[in-house]
Amino acid sequence: MKIVILLIFCYYTGVVMAQENVCDILIKNTVPITSDTGKRFPIFVWARIPVNISEDQIVDYLKKLDERKLVLLTGWRIPKEGIEKGIQEALKIDKIRKQLNLPVFVDATGIVHMFFDGSSETAHIDEEGKPFFDTSFSKGAKIGCPFKIETRYPVIAERIDKFLQAYKKEGIDINYWAVDWEIDGPMEWNDAWENSKKCKTCRQNIKNLNDFSEYQKTIRMKRAELQRQVFVKTVKEYYPECLIGNYAVNPHDGYRYWWDYFEKETQGAIYQKKHNALHRKWFDEFKYTGYTMAMPVIYTWYRFFSDYNFEPKEFRWFYPLIKEATSVGKNTPSTIPIISFVHWQTVEKPQKVSDDFVPLSREKYKELLWHLLLRGHDAFCLWSPIKEMGEEIKVVQEVYIESLKYNDFILKGKPVFWDVSDEPDTVISGLKLNSRMLVVRTDFKEPKEIKLRIEGKLVKIPAIKEPTIIEIK
Ligand SMILES: [Zn+2]
Repeated sequence: MKIVILLIFCYYTGVVMAQENVCDILIKNTVPITSDTGKRFPIFVWARIPVNISEDQIVDYLKKLDERKLVLLTGWRIPKEGIEKGIQEALKIDKIRKQLNLPVFVDATGIVHMFFDGSSETAHIDEEGKPFFDTSFSKGAKIGCPFKIETRYPVIAERIDKFLQAYKKEGIDINYWAVDWEIDGPMEWNDAWENSKKCKTCRQNIKNLNDFSEYQKTIRMKRAELQRQVFVKTVKEYYPECLIGNYAVNPHDGYRYWWDYFEKETQGAIYQKKHNALHRKWFDEFKYTGYTMAMPVIYTWYRFFSDYNFEPKEFRWFYPLIKEATSVGKNTPSTIPIISFVHWQTVEKPQKVSDDFVPLSREKYKELLWHLLLRGHDAFCLWSPIKEMGEEIKVVQEVYIESLKYNDFILKGKPVFWDVSDEPDTVISGLKLNSRMLVVRTDFKEPKEIKLRIEGKLVKIPAIKEPTIIEIK
């Protein structure tokens, strides 16, 4: 009997689980937005609209998502039946978006991976002339020689071209085109530098290979060139106005304040140390890619918690994230929208954490999102594992809805504060518009009124948690 009940339970929950996709979760956890969004971007969610459902169901989802100002992705992929099938799947969704007059956001990750496809033509060459790969980035990835990758450009560009042609033929506009192109192509971290030193081709092509700065510059220039030639040039040919970008490629202050899950320290690279954290010298790859939107990453990586020893502990999350957000906001021209990947609940959190572990609170995360808006970021792109998606979208939408009251400031105001205190203190961000300023503050010590000078005028920032408008007199 128990077994029968269990089977019925599994069948039932299995059916329920199978029915609830990302659209259901997002719709269930958000509300329709009735106030005017003006020229503000919507909320982007790095999740794909399901394709194996009826057209009526897609229409229903898209309408409800639009009411909530959520824009999801159309995934481009090459299924086992071939690229034509992939194109048909994508068109199924985007023909409907066109009919409904909704923006089209394409995630082309599925067709651009594997520049380094493991073929010997793309390999490093050792002293004996034998091909070899760098496998230090992930189990499956065979990262080859940065100087052997160009033969792969036309292969990938042709795939993109085929999709674009089909979209153009259908008269569909693509508004946003992005990829999450990460563990592929030339990279300088992990064992890459060591492997390049062992490679005849790399040694011939990189002057001063023993100088990490030179190495990083050469590698990142190759990486940027690839993205410009294959992604940006191809898309712009069809859609010159399209916003084009890649995960974690953005202007910055010369440093990166976080590590991706697949990146490991490289001995001899250039770091600024803060507590146990290594802030890495970073090359301005963005500038050479031609990307038209910046896509920085503001995630609560688990390692932050042990990288810093700040008290109160929440500053261990806040500090690197506001450093990164500021670096991007301050250094990105106003003509380039900043669409930031965000995630609140601890990323890459192990099963067991230390007894003194304190995650970033919902309240402080919301404030962080506000600081982003007040430091030049234009929109949020939520990334999340499906099990955390419900909570994540709630927070992002709350901030979005509250921020609509201040559209004028967010669209036309100028960021005033770029300071980040190196110790737990009060973090202030502000957007100035004419004689008024929208201010947000987060306190890591006893909150009290703060007096500042802006353009020679004395301004008092009250100890209020909520966003506040202050007159500059
Ligand atoms: Zn090489």
